[in-house]
Amino acid sequence: MTIVCRHCNASEGFYVRERVSGSSTTYYTKTGDFMADQSSMYDHLNHHGGTVAYCMNCHKAMGKKEDFESGDVEKEATFY
Ligand SMILES: [Zn+2]
Repeated sequence: MTIVCRHCNASEGFYVRERVSGSSTTYYTKTGDFMADQSSMYDHLNHHGGTVAYCMNCHKAMGKKEDFESGDVEKEATFY
């Protein structure tokens, strides 16, 4: 199912905005090198909100995130 924005008819996807609080941890190796894997950096943040879906194109509220999210993960990662 393609999600289409009711405001601008774009189907570029949506995002949610969350407020976070807590602490992050940055990891270094035994020689002081910045570790490449920082994937657990934000494990200890608390997330608040994130219930409203906003259009990637016009940034207007599209509805509730829970009505749109598929539960799947995109096949090809677009961030590193
Ligand atoms: Zn839109």
